[in-house]
Amino acid sequence: MDASRLSSHLDRLRSIGATADGGVSRLAFSPEDVEGRSYVSGLMTEAGLAVEVDAAGNLLGRRPGRRRGAPALLIGSHIDTVVNGGAYDGAYGVLAGVEVAATLAAQGIELDHPLVVVAFSDEEGAYGTMGMLGSHAFAGVLPEDAAAAFDERGRRVGDLLRAVGGDPAGLAGCAWRPEDVAAYFELHIEQGDVLERLGVPVGVVETITGRVNVAVTVDGVAGHAGTTPMEHRADALVAAGRMVLAARAIAAEERVVLRATTGTCEVSPGMWNVIPGRVRLGVEFRDADAANLDAAVTRLRELARTVGRESGTAIEVRAGARTSPVACDPDLRLLIAESAAEYGLPCHGLPSGAGHDAQVIARIAPIGMIFVPSRGGVSHAPAEYTAPEHLAAGADVLLAAVLRRDAQQEAPNNQEKNPIYLTIGSQS
Ligand SMILES: [Zn+2]
Repeated sequence: MDASRLSSHLDRLRSIGATADGGVSRLAFSPEDVEGRSYVSGLMTEAGLAVEVDAAGNLLGRRPGRRRGAPALLIGSHIDTVVNGGAYDGAYGVLAGVEVAATLAAQGIELDHPLVVVAFSDEEGAYGTMGMLGSHAFAGVLPEDAAAAFDERGRRVGDLLRAVGGDPAGLAGCAWRPEDVAAYFELHIEQGDVLERLGVPVGVVETITGRVNVAVTVDGVAGHAGTTPMEHRADALVAAGRMVLAARAIAAEERVVLRATTGTCEVSPGMWNVIPGRVRLGVEFRDADAANLDAAVTRLRELARTVGRESGTAIEVRAGARTSPVACDPDLRLLIAESAAEYGLPCHGLPSGAGHDAQVIARIAPIGMIFVPSRGGVSHAPAEYTAPEHLAAGADVLLAAVLRRDAQQEAPNNQEKNPIYLTIGSQS
């Protein structure tokens, strides 16, 4: 693998949408995204890949396989970013995939399987769109009304798709069948600090955590801030504060669930001189085990009863949108670990706390994910950074994993569609 070429491609791509403080804003369907896609499309062509854009705006680079009718090996990720995000999230996986194809071409290596490198459209959910739109269409699980939805700016998703060469009328035609895919690989920065703390260069993802959003509504009694005595108050925000701590304790102390975050808080009526009458909190739980998500919601309800009783408020806890945890394929995990060993690279198995296109592609194919260290665990921010030697190591492991999988006999792909529906609002 040509690590310096991969680094220079990453540098060039980060310059498209570069922000003043070293970040990148290349939101899906923006002019920057269009420019970034055109750059990557050119690299795909240079790497000998036949480029196409499907109806969902996914950018595909295809390389034929030697064996007639063999299912494809896919390498995918995304090149869109959040607002003022980093240079590596997504972009690294796509450019490393292109580099794999370029290396195979340069060394005259033919694979038995077709190889397809994919940059999925709108992974990050630009301007409040659903997120992972391209991979949902690719896996045939896009909600039917997806193209008719509007973003926060009032633009129709179908029109946004046209801007990148997509076709809202043809979305159903993007879906790949399980029998067309042998394996899906995604190489990604960790976006956490586990590998860095362990000093291990390669992560083998075991599961992509699921999550559940929980709406907590606290009803107290609004009143005059000056005339209502302290002992006669049913202050919704004071009770809500206890609920924020309760949610945190369910993860941090009770360890019922891996992560708990209260990310939103709306106070009504929201005035300095009025005791809050109603507060709405948005709590999110994440875990690799769906049963733990349920247990966390149950525990939050129990704690809500206690807090409600003690504070004289009524607290409703309602579970909403949910994304199921997804397991990476055991055979591909082993194969990735063997590939790391081939290069003498230590590796470590870990869950992914962030969402990825891989979790959607798992509906139609076995998935394997490779992580490389993120400095300080920082991501979705300008300070996102992965050392060049780690970028190179991850790409080497990706290439080796593709070669190893290509050499394997075809097992029938009996991947059944995950019966649990992936909800909209699955932004990473
Ligand atoms: Zn990503």
